[in-house]
Amino acid sequence: MKPMGPIPTWFGAEENMLLIGGCGAASLVDEAGDTPLFVYDMGIVEAQVRRFRQAMPDAVHLHYAMKANPYAPLLARMAGQVDGFDIASGGELEMALSAGMAPDRISFAGPGKRRDELEAAIFAGVTINLESEGEGRRALAAAEKVGKTPRLAVRVNPDFDLKGSGMKMGGGAKPFGVDADRAAALARAMIDAGADWRGWHIFAGSQNLDPAAIIETQAATIALAARLSDAVGASPPLVNLGGGFGLPYFPGDAALDIRPVGVALDNELDSLPDILRGSDFAIELGRWLVGEAGVYLTRVVDVKTSQGETFVVVDGGLHHQLAASGNFGTVVRRNYPMAVANRFGAAVAGDPVTVVGCLCTPIDRLGDKVSLPPVEEGDLIAIFLAGAYGASASPTAFLGHPSPRELLLG
Ligand SMILES: *Cc1c(COP(=O)(O)O)cnc(C)c1O
Repeated sequence: MKPMGPIPTWFGAEENMLLIGGCGAASLVDEAGDTPLFVYDMGIVEAQVRRFRQAMPDAVHLHYAMKANPYAPLLARMAGQVDGFDIASGGELEMALSAGMAPDRISFAGPGKRRDELEAAIFAGVTINLESEGEGRRALAAAEKVGKTPRLAVRVNPDFDLKGSGMKMGGGAKPFGVDADRAAALARAMIDAGADWRGWHIFAGSQNLDPAAIIETQAATIALAARLSDAVGASPPLVNLGGGFGLPYFPGDAALDIRPVGVALDNELDSLPDILRGSDFAIELGRWLVGEAGVYLTRVVDVKTSQGETFVVVDGGLHHQLAASGNFGTVVRRNYPMAVANRFGAAVAGDPVTVVGCLCTPIDRLGDKVSLPPVEEGDLIAIFLAGAYGASASPTAFLGHPSPRELLLG
């Protein structure tokens, strides 16, 4: 037996049927038409937003990093919940605008922005978080072409990282942002060229469960923003502090308590260096807002044995939920929390089983030697933490199976 991560505390059952947003999993599948299906409970997303607002100082804006889940109905609801969207492509720009987010609340980060993406974003009035000096030149040229004053911020590759992060995004050589020792010169050059300078974007890491590490990084981020602003000789309108709030995906993970982070940030904002006194601050989050709200439901097609090991074969797989297969940025494969949705809470019995997807590759493994109640053909397997980096982060065209269905509740 290999352990699995903790099932998020929002979920319970009625007569052993998993409830999502108060509805039974089987009836949700009926409503959607078939499996595989992603169900998102907007009530959980809204509860996370409330949790953030309660813990963080009022002055801190909340941005949604929409690459975590760009499902259009969810995005439209998100536009009313958060203070801004962070986008990473021209496609996300179109989705953000269609969702009703105001252009002056959208910022566009990401390496390798194409000329047409820069032109569209600058024309729309979106802030570009510059990833390099070259991108600064291309943004000015794009602005000239579309006849607009560009709104430009500088993304800084900080000289520190967020300790213990699942994905390191700062510290050392990185394709993201401009090294801290060159960031002030780039901001100054953009101001001198007539751009509307919007400030700094400093993102040091992702998927962190340690409040002390996040507190330390936020303090270092504010200090770096102050130092850079002094060097520029101008106050930044906005300091985007990054994010990094993580979720408990795996055995032994405990939920991040954001309350001490809010208390520490409140103290930081009370004693800001002079140059940041008039600045706004933002935290950008993806998975922490939407990850726990999603459940991936897939049906058991076959139960078979091979050399004494039982394989449960489902109609979904890594083509929809790559992260649960362990192939999305994790070094060691570990089990996401999962359950038999129509036997939720029933006693575990028999030997552990291995839950595999329907793809013809050995990496399509959703649960490795997990302990479940007895599983039969036709049962529904629920994989939790499917609200972020699920459908849109998976190779849906691989092997020609149908795309997953999606459903937003609440
Ligand atoms: C992906 C990304 C995020 C969101 O990361 P999560 O771990 O989902 O919160 C935030 N900011 C930037 C710059 C990103 O690239």
